[in-house]
Formats: sequence, C-alpha cells, structure tokens
Amino acid sequence: MQTQPAFWPDPLSHLRRTMPDDPVFYHSPQALQARARFFLDRFPGLVTYAVKANDRAEVLDNLVAAGIDSFDVASPAEMAAVRRVKPDAVLHYHNPIRTPSEIAEGRAQGVASWSVDCMAELEKLGDLPEGSEIAVRLKLAVKGGAYDFGSKFGATPDEAEALLREVARRGWRASVTFHPGTQCEAAEAWAAYIGAAAEVAERAGVRLHRLNVGGGFPGRRGAEAPDLGAIFDRIAAETRKAFGEDAPAHVCEPGRGMVADSFHLALRVRAVRNGAVFLNDGIYGNLTELRDLGPMSGIRALSPEGHARHAAPEARIVFGPTCDSLDRLPEPLPLPADLAEGDYLLFPSMGAYSQVLATQFNGYGAARVVTVQDLSGAALDTGG
Ligand SMILES: *Cc1c(COP(=O)(O)O)cnc(C)c1O
Repeated sequence: MQTQPAFWPDPLSHLRRTMPDDPVFYHSPQALQARARFFLDRFPGLVTYAVKANDRAEVLDNLVAAGIDSFDVASPAEMAAVRRVKPDAVLHYHNPIRTPSEIAEGRAQGVASWSVDCMAELEKLGDLPEGSEIAVRLKLAVKGGAYDFGSKFGATPDEAEALLREVARRGWRASVTFHPGTQCEAAEAWAAYIGAAAEVAERAGVRLHRLNVGGGFPGRRGAEAPDLGAIFDRIAAETRKAFGEDAPAHVCEPGRGMVADSFHLALRVRAVRNGAVFLNDGIYGNLTELRDLGPMSGIRALSPEGHARHAAPEARIVFGPTCDSLDRLPEPLPLPADLAEGDYLLFPSMGAYSQVLATQFNGYGAARVVTVQDLSGAALDTGG
C-alpha cells in the first residue's frame, strides 16, 4: 500500500478521472481529525486510540495532529509504531496476556497502564514502578457488540474483586477496564459494565483510580450515523449513578469509532457470471470483516464512468479475486440488477480492521490510499 500525495476533492472525481483497476481507499484526513476532536471535546475523560484498528502512519499522524497523545497498544510493534509518530506518547498496554520479554519492552517504553485479568499475569508483571496503573479487565455476559469480546479475556466479578484487592495491597493504582464488544450500538452494554465495576470496587473496598470504558464505539454501517454523543452522555450519567460523588475519572480506547468513517473503499467488478459478482478484493483482502460482522448497507454501485446504478437490487453472491473457492462473502449482497463488468462498488466506513487484516494471498489484497477532501454523500449524489 502506498500513500499517494495527490489531493482529490472527493472519491468520484478520482474514480472518473483514473478508472482504477485495483482497490482504492479514499481517506479524508479532515474527517479523521474532526472525529478525533469530537472524542476529545465530548468524551468525559482521557481518549486513547486503540492502534490495532488501523496502525498506518497517516492515521497515527493525523490523530496526533488533532491532539491525541495517548494510545492503547497490544504489542511491542504497536509501541514502536506510536513512538515513531509521537515519541512522548502515553502508552496503555492493555493486552492482558504478555510474555516476559514483552513485559520488559513495555517497561523500557515507560508504559503508564497495564491491564490484567488473572493473578498469574499480575504476578508476571513483577515490581512495577510506584504509581503504575493496573486496570483489572472485567467481563460480563453482556450483549451489545457485533461479537463477544468477553469470550477471550476478562475476569469474572469475583475474580476481579480479588485482583483489585491484590493490586491495591501492592501499592499500585487500581482501575477497572472492560470492552463491551466491537461495533456496540447499545449504550446499555456500557451501563451494565459501569454498574458492575462499581459493585466490584465496593466489595473489594478499593477506590478506583480510573474507569476505562474500552472501545466498542460504532462506526457507520447503515443509513443512520451512530450517535456517539448519546453514548458518552450515558456513560457519564451511569458513572454518577453507580459511584456517586467519588466517581473515578474515565478513560476510553476507541479503535473503530475513531477511524472507520474516514475511509471509503472502492472496488471494481471483474466479472458478472450467472448472477454472481466477482470483485477485485474479498475476505482475504480488505473485506475480512464482512465475514465476521455480516453484511453492511450503504454500498453504492457506479458505472465505469462513475454514474450511480439505479436498477432495483437483487441478492448477489459476491466472490473475491483469488482462486480459492472459500473466497466469497458469507451472505449475498443486495446489488442493482444492472451491475456490470467494469463497474465500481463504493463501501463506506472501511477504515477499521480492513487494511490491517488484508493478506496478499494469491497476489491480491493490496490497496492504494488516495487522499480526498470530502467523503460526504452529497459529493457522491452529484454522480447520479
Ligand atoms: C480492540 C480493542 C479496542 C478497540 O476496540 P474497537 O471496538 O475497535 O473500538 C480497545 N481496547 C482493547 C483492549 C482492545 O483489545
């Protein structure tokens, strides 16, 4: 993947002029910076960016330019990626399972906060510097996200209570952290976790240093943009309700919610055969998440000249470009009946868990990034 320095007003003007055969991400740094400023202005606490959603330098650079100075990292490689763009960044190392050499690297990098979900991992951390923050990762059986993050990491409320006591006994700053599940559109999921965090802290007799409400903030996957401000307000209200006057400070660690909406992905139709559509990208490339999250709406079909296809939609099987027969989307997509070879499909909000998951299997999966001023629907509608 290469970043093309040329600056285009919007995706359509680039598509029409260049008719690209290869997958193209359209990225609006302006939109990304606006989203970062929205988090900084409206989230009631510290905003850390979860690097795994998209670790590309242009993303990290724009976040830093917008004022993000704290990052959730899961590996030494992510620490290095952050240090390259912001040498004095604050690092939260919230992967609760670490090898001794990873712990040594975290210490060398001056990690400010570590998450744990079991005694053995707490033990492994050894003698951290005084004032280090240990965030106990709590899990609940809560529905809300597109898939369940609690199935891999997290301590039950009873285990979390014991861990908090032990963290406090060792003289570290005790916090609670959780992740409600990615692409979580239900503010109730945060409410349930915040209530449980307050209960666990009370039973442990520990005053929390901070409450980290995780990532999970949704990107746009349908006609309506999710209301992030309403989720922030609910988080603040539930924390007041659960903790009262003595409430801990908040931290959040958005990945998807920060970066998804500032990238659109344009793919080209390689062939239409017996009603099935063959694209130049698929689940081994930048569409991996469509396999895990299910289909999305808001995909636009355009003729090679960049005009909207208007025929009524039909459910189409969609194959990727490789010779592997598993390379198909798990569910058919509704696409216009007049879709033809050489057409484009424009997938909105593709900035998270796309480029970072793409493989080069069978020689496909690479995508250029073209910088645009404006990703808005209005700019697209003029193409119709
Ligand atoms: C992946 C991850 C995030 C970001 O999740 P999103 O759903 O992309 O916001 C935040 N925190 C931790 C610990 C994670 O593993």
